[in-house]
Amino acid sequence: MNAPAPSVLKQHLIDPVICIRCNTCEETCPIKAITHDSRNYVVDPDICNGCGACISPCPTGSIDNWRSVIKAEAYSLDAQLGWDELPEELELDVAAGSTVDEEPVFATPPLDTARGSTLAPKSAAMPSVNLHTIKQPATATVVGNFRVTATDHDSDTHHIVLDFGSQPFPVLEGQSIGIIPPGTDAHGRPHHARQYSIASPRDGERPKYNNLSLTVKRVLVDHSGQPVRGVASNYVCDLQKGDQVKVIGPFGSTFLMPDDAKANLLMICTGTGSAPMRGMTERRRRLMKEGDGKLMLFFGARSQEELPYFGPLMKLPKSFIDINLAFSRTPGQPRTYVQDLMRARASEIAALLKSDDTHLYVCGLKGMEDGVIDALRYAADQHGLDWRTLHPKLKAEGRLHLETY
Ligand SMILES: Cc1cc2nc3c(=O)[nH]c(=O)nc-3n(C[C@H](O)[C@H](O)[C@H](O)COP(=O)(O)OP(=O)(O)OC[C@H]3O[C@@H](n4cnc5c(N)ncnc54)[C@H](O)[C@@H]3O)c2cc1C
Ligand code: SF4
Ligand code: SF4
Repeated sequence: MNAPAPSVLKQHLIDPVICIRCNTCEETCPIKAITHDSRNYVVDPDICNGCGACISPCPTGSIDNWRSVIKAEAYSLDAQLGWDELPEELELDVAAGSTVDEEPVFATPPLDTARGSTLAPKSAAMPSVNLHTIKQPATATVVGNFRVTATDHDSDTHHIVLDFGSQPFPVLEGQSIGIIPPGTDAHGRPHHARQYSIASPRDGERPKYNNLSLTVKRVLVDHSGQPVRGVASNYVCDLQKGDQVKVIGPFGSTFLMPDDAKANLLMICTGTGSAPMRGMTERRRRLMKEGDGKLMLFFGARSQEELPYFGPLMKLPKSFIDINLAFSRTPGQPRTYVQDLMRARASEIAALLKSDDTHLYVCGLKGMEDGVIDALRYAADQHGLDWRTLHPKLKAEGRLHLETY
C-alpha cells in the first residue's frame, strides 16, 4: 500500500538579518506563536495559523517571510533560534496527491488584543516608513551630543543630533529610527539595529536643516540590575561631533500626533519615553499661533537628576503645557509614580477625556502600562465616564497610543 502523501506547509519565518528585535510581533500575536532568545525572534510552526496580525505592525518587514516545507519537516524553534540568515526556498519533491495547507490570509486581525490603538489619528500626516534598510542604510553625521541628565549622577542620558545631509529622511513626531552599531556580536555576526524614538519635530531639531534628535540612555545594568554594557546605547552616547552613523527607518505608522493644533495631547512617559513627547511638544510650540489645544504631561523618573531635559522643561510656560513630574526615589520623599499623580489630577484628566479632540500617548518602560491604564480607568469612572466604553472608542478612533520597551 502507498504511504500517505505528505502535506505541505507555508511556514512563517522571521528574517534574522533585518529584524531589529523590537518585540512588537511577540506582543501582537494573539495566540503567542512568537518567542525569542537573546539572538533571534522565531515563529512556532505548531501554533502559528497565518492570521497576519503581526505583519503590518512589524516596522521592518522582516516578519513577512514564508517558505514552503513538508509539514513534518518544518523548521523547529531550535533551528530558527540558531540562524544567522533565512534558508533559501527548497525545491520540494512533492508527491501527487499531497495536501497543501491554506495560504495565509491577511485579513483584519481576528482578536483585538492590543491595549492601545493600532490606527493613526484621523488627521495625522502620512508617514514615510522603511526608506532606508539594512542593505541600504542612510549615513548620518553627528552634529551634537549633549548630556541631558545631571552630570553629578550616574544615570547618563544624551541628546544626540544627527544630520542626513542630502539623503532623504522625512520623519514625523512619534516615529523612530534604527541605529546599527559597528562591529559584531558574540556569534560573530553584525550587531542588529536598535530602535530609538525621534525627539525632534518633523522640521528638524534645527528647523529647515535635514536633521533629527534622539534621547538615548546609556545602559550599564540590565533589567535585573546586573552590570552590562549595552551595545548600541553606549556606542551612541559616546559618539563625537563629526562621527558617521548607519541609520535605518524611519519606522512607525500609528504613534503619530493629530495634524490639528486644536487637539489636546495627554502625554504620559518615563525616562527616555519622553523622546516622542519632546518632539510633539516642540511641534506644538512652533505652531502655537495656530491653535490652543491643551497639553498635559505626566513625566516620571527616579529623581530630578535622572529626568532628561529637566531644565528646558521647566522653562516652558504653564499656559502652554501642564507639567506633572513624579519622582520615585527622592530621599526623604514618598515614592511617587506617574499613575499616582494621574489619580491626584483625575478631574483634569477626565475633563480632557470628555473631549473627542483629546489624544493620549504613553511611552517608556513596559512596566508602566498597567498603572497608567488603571489610572485612566479611575479618572474616567470617578467623573461620570464609563472606561469600558471609552477605552475601545479611543482605540477605534486612533486616540490612545502606547509604546513601551
Ligand atoms: C519602539 C522603541 C523605541 C525606543 N526608543 C528609545 C529611546 O528613545 N531611547 C532609548 O534610550 N532607548 C529606546 N529604546 C530602547 C533601545 O532600542 C535599546 O533597547 C536600548 O538602548 C538598549 O540597547 P543596548 O544595545 O544598549 O543594550 P543591549 O546590548 O541590547 O542589551 C544589554 C542588556 O541590557 C538590557 N537592557 C536593554 N535596555 C535596557 C534598559 N533601558 N534598561 C535596563 N536594561 C536594558 C537587555 O535586556 C540586555 O540584557 C526603544 C526601543 C523601542 C522598541
Ligand atoms: S501570523 Fe498570526 S499567528 Fe502567526 S505569528 Fe503572526 S500573529 Fe501570530
Ligand atoms: S522587527 Fe519585526 S520581526 Fe523583528 S521583533 Fe520587531 S516586529 Fe518582530
